[in-house]
Amino acid sequence: MKKRRRRVVLAAVGVVTLAIFGCMCPPKSFRAVKRPRAGRAMNDKVAIVYSKHYQINVGGLEKLHPFDINKYAKIYLALNTAGLLRPEDIFVPQAVTNEQILLVHTPGFLASLKDSKTVARYLEAPIIAAAPAGLVDAAVLNAFRYATGGTILAGRLALKHGIAINLAGGYHHAKPNAGEGFNIYADMAIAIRALQKDGLIKRALIVDLDVHQGNGSAIIFAGDDSVFTFSMHEGDIYPTPKEKSDLDVELPAGTGDEEYLRLLARHLPKVIKTARPDIVFIQAGCDTLAGDPLARLKMTADGIVRRDAMAIDRCVSEGIPVVMCLGGGYSKNAWKVQYDSVRRTIEKYNPAGGNRPRRPTVKEKIYTK
Ligand SMILES: [Zn+2]
Repeated sequence: MKKRRRRVVLAAVGVVTLAIFGCMCPPKSFRAVKRPRAGRAMNDKVAIVYSKHYQINVGGLEKLHPFDINKYAKIYLALNTAGLLRPEDIFVPQAVTNEQILLVHTPGFLASLKDSKTVARYLEAPIIAAAPAGLVDAAVLNAFRYATGGTILAGRLALKHGIAINLAGGYHHAKPNAGEGFNIYADMAIAIRALQKDGLIKRALIVDLDVHQGNGSAIIFAGDDSVFTFSMHEGDIYPTPKEKSDLDVELPAGTGDEEYLRLLARHLPKVIKTARPDIVFIQAGCDTLAGDPLARLKMTADGIVRRDAMAIDRCVSEGIPVVMCLGGGYSKNAWKVQYDSVRRTIEKYNPAGGNRPRRPTVKEKIYTK
């Protein structure tokens, strides 16, 4: 009798252990995008870059920051379950190397990342200051290194296929000697310098449509005629003071779709003509959405999709390789706007594509909550 009871207890412990480990283990769709590898550009035109490592996980503490870091995973999953792409279509990047980081940042900046208090300041997340440096590196900085590697890979893929979308990146506040505003590594600038170093491009253009000014990009490329920085942003919010991009278009609070799109349509062709870029990096932050907690523009979700379409389609029509990075977007449903925008690009440039939609599994729902 005793033996039987012991067996029952052992079996129960086994089931509970399996259930716990089963829940902790990421879903199959995420395990498939863990190791760096080549994917498949849809219709040989659109390459999507993503990695499971983009996800920041500090035991739930990451949720204390207004930035929804899970938005990257949610977009990947939504594209997958909608049948727009399979996990094997995804190009999975390597993490950026220190050598690549030093193409833009200073050795002092790299050293500063060993201090949790400094990283907490860069990320505007005071809670991180108390964490051991090793944990911050493994759980937070590592995610940014993969996201930055993703933007570099997207640059290479855009040159090959025309359009590449990194489901992360756009850290336009990072400066050579410091991170700022939740941004650590200046991914777009590093990608541009890496492509230039490899002789793949000479000139580049950053079209920064995030609601905040791309102050980091402006500083990095100040006085460099090979890279044109164009930033359209709300004038009366962070960062203050503003830096000087090659072209800044400041918008008043309350600007809506029609005025925004009118200004973009007016400036973009001129900017492309002046910059004569071999590649364009679009920072497609969706914090221009009405109701964003950090800004006061009044764009609709549809307006933002039209904005991204205008920028991407213009580059494609002029035969210029284009990279889209996600940038900011802090409201609860911001990820859905960016999902719609990525979906529009895939459907336009891969009209015959598509697999059968499926329901997300319970595990996928928990993983991206
Ligand atoms: Zn922003």
